Amino acid sequence: MADDCIFCSIVRGDMPAEIVDEDEHTLAFMDINPWTQGHALVIPRAHSRNLYQVGDDDLHHAATAAKRLAITMRDRLGCDGVNLLNACEPAAWQTVWHFHVHVIPRYENDPLSLPTRPRQAEDDELRAVAGELRG
Ligand code: AMP
Ligand code: ZN
Repeated sequence: MADDCIFCSIVRGDMPAEIVDEDEHTLAFMDINPWTQGHALVIPRAHSRNLYQVGDDDLHHAATAAKRLAITMRDRLGCDGVNLLNACEPAAWQTVWHFHVHVIPRYENDPLSLPTRPRQAEDDELRAVAGELRG
């Protein structure tokens, strides 16, 4: 637990949250600034900063909990689909420093749209970057 972490405060019960699912390793609660009706966050109970630091077991537990919640959203909210989103570091929009997965129910006519347009890859770009990743 981190003293200055708001999500750890929710785990401890020191900060209010609309909890919708919990198990031994994870907690899921409503995002206070929802992108769509039902937008929730799944967190491991144990503190870690983000994807770079989260333990493999907690990552697994969070993924399992996110799937469970996605199915609940489909069955109880009647959503038409779900996006899972994780932000890791500020460049990727992370604003809260406790690993979390956004579980965002999607509706056929909801107002969300991709914030970027996919572009055609440049010649040799994919081979070059794939080479860097393979090392
Ligand atoms: P991220 O930008 O991926 O780090 O997302 C952090 C998310 O946490 C944002 O969508 C916030 O709306 C949400 N959030 C921040 N504080 C709280 C809180 N006390 N309870 C619920 N959600 C929160
Ligand atoms: Zn924390």
